[in-house]
Amino acid sequence: MNRKGTGFSLLMSIIMATFLAAGNVMAMDSDSTRLLLSRNAEFNKEILRVSENVYTAVGYAVSPVSMIVGPQGIVIVDAGLDVASSREIRADFRRIVDKPVKAVIFTHGHPDHTHGASAFMDSTDVQVWAREGFPHEQYTLESAGILIQKKRGKKQAGFMLSPEQRINNGIAKAFWPDRKGGIWGADHKIGPSHIFNSERQKINIAGLDLELVAATGETHDGLYLWYPAEHVVFAGDNFYKSWPNLYALRGTPYRDIRGWANVIDMIMQEGAVSLVGGHTRPIIGKDEVNQTLANYRDAILFLFDKTVEGINKGMTPNQLVDYVVLPEKYKNLDYLRPYYGNPEWAIRAIFSGYLGWFDGNATNLFPLSDAQEAQRIVKLAGSEDALADLIVGAINEKDYQWAAMLCDYLLAVDPKNKTAMLRKADALTALAQDKLTTTARNYYLSSAIELRKRASALASE
Ligand SMILES: [Zn+2]
Repeated sequence: MNRKGTGFSLLMSIIMATFLAAGNVMAMDSDSTRLLLSRNAEFNKEILRVSENVYTAVGYAVSPVSMIVGPQGIVIVDAGLDVASSREIRADFRRIVDKPVKAVIFTHGHPDHTHGASAFMDSTDVQVWAREGFPHEQYTLESAGILIQKKRGKKQAGFMLSPEQRINNGIAKAFWPDRKGGIWGADHKIGPSHIFNSERQKINIAGLDLELVAATGETHDGLYLWYPAEHVVFAGDNFYKSWPNLYALRGTPYRDIRGWANVIDMIMQEGAVSLVGGHTRPIIGKDEVNQTLANYRDAILFLFDKTVEGINKGMTPNQLVDYVVLPEKYKNLDYLRPYYGNPEWAIRAIFSGYLGWFDGNATNLFPLSDAQEAQRIVKLAGSEDALADLIVGAINEKDYQWAAMLCDYLLAVDPKNKTAMLRKADALTALAQDKLTTTARNYYLSSAIELRKRASALASE
C-alpha cells in the first residue's frame, strides 16, 4: 500500500475509534461519509496565489478572504466569519505584501462573509462597499420580528455538535466561531460606508480598476466583483463547489432561483480565467471556469424549468420531488453534489416561493391538528403501546424516516413521552449517517441532542 493509502486508513481508524468512544452511532462505512472525508483536502488552510496580484486565503474559517494588491494598497474581498480567524489572515497577508487596506468589499451580507471585517480596518479611511439593501435576509426576517432563524441557523451550521459529529460542512471545514473575537458582538460589526446601487459600477481603489455587478441570486443584496486586468471574478455565494443552497434550512425569504442561474450566466460572459467562489477553493483556467459555470447554470435551470412544468401539471410539492430528477451528467459532477444545498429543498422552495403554503389538494384546506391526526393513528395502531412497538419495528428494519414520523404521532398525543423522544433521537441520528448534505446531517444530529436533553430533563423531574 502506498503512503497515502496507509495515512488514509490510519485516519479512518482514528476517526472510527473517536466515534465509538463518543458513543456515536454514525456508521463509518456510508458512501456519504466517505465522500465527505474525501472533501477535506478542499479545506486545507493556505493562501493561494490566484493571479499576479490576487491572493485568496482558504481554510482559515468557513469562507475565503481575498486580497487584490494595487499600487497604493490592497482591497479585501469578503471578510470572513469571525475576527480571530480574520486577524490571522490579515497577519499572513501582511507577510506577502505590507501595504495598507484601502477597501473591503462585501459580496453580500451573510455573517460568514462580513463579521471578520474589523480585522481589516487598518485605518478609519478604509472604504467598506456593499450593495443596496445590505444585509437583506436578516433585515427582512428581523424587521418582521422573526428570530427563530437564529436558532435554526445554529442547528444547520452544526455549532451545537462536537468535533466527532462533524466531518466538515460540505463547503467548508467544521468550524466553531470564536465569539470572544467578536461574532455577534455589536462592537465588531462593520457596516458599509459606500453603497453600490446600480446594475454595474466601475470604481478605482488603491490604483485598481474594479467593477461591481448586481447579482441577485442567493441574496437580494448580492454582487460579484470583476477585476478585468487579471480576469478574476469574485462570485460570492452564487458559486461554490456544491449543489447551491437554493433554500436554507434555517428559514429564508424566497431566493431568486431563476435569477441565480441568470447571474451565473452573467459571470460566464465576463470571460474569467479565475473564479473565486464564496466557499471552497478557487477554480483557475479559462476552460475549466467556463465549463463549470455552464454546468452550474444549466443544472439550476433544469431544476427550475422541470419544477415549473410539474407545478403546471397540478403536482404537489411531495409529488414534485419525485417528478424532478436531475440528469446523470449533473449528478456525477463533484461540484454539483449536494454537499451543502439539496435539490429536493430547492424544488419545494420554488413551489412555496411562487404559490405559498397551499399544495392545491382540497383535503389540505383545513387539515386536522397534529394531535387530532395522531389520536386517529393511535386508534389505527390499536394503542400507544402498539404504536411504540411499530416504532421499534421500523428502527429494526432501518426504516428511519417512518420511525421518526411515528414518534411524532406519539409525541403529539403525549408531548412528555420520553421513549418516543429517545427513539426519535435514534432515528434522526441514523438518518444523518446516510446523508451527504451536511446541513441536513447537522440538523438531524442537533435535533437528536435536543431530544435527548429533554428526555433526561423529564426523567429527573
Ligand atoms: Zn457564505
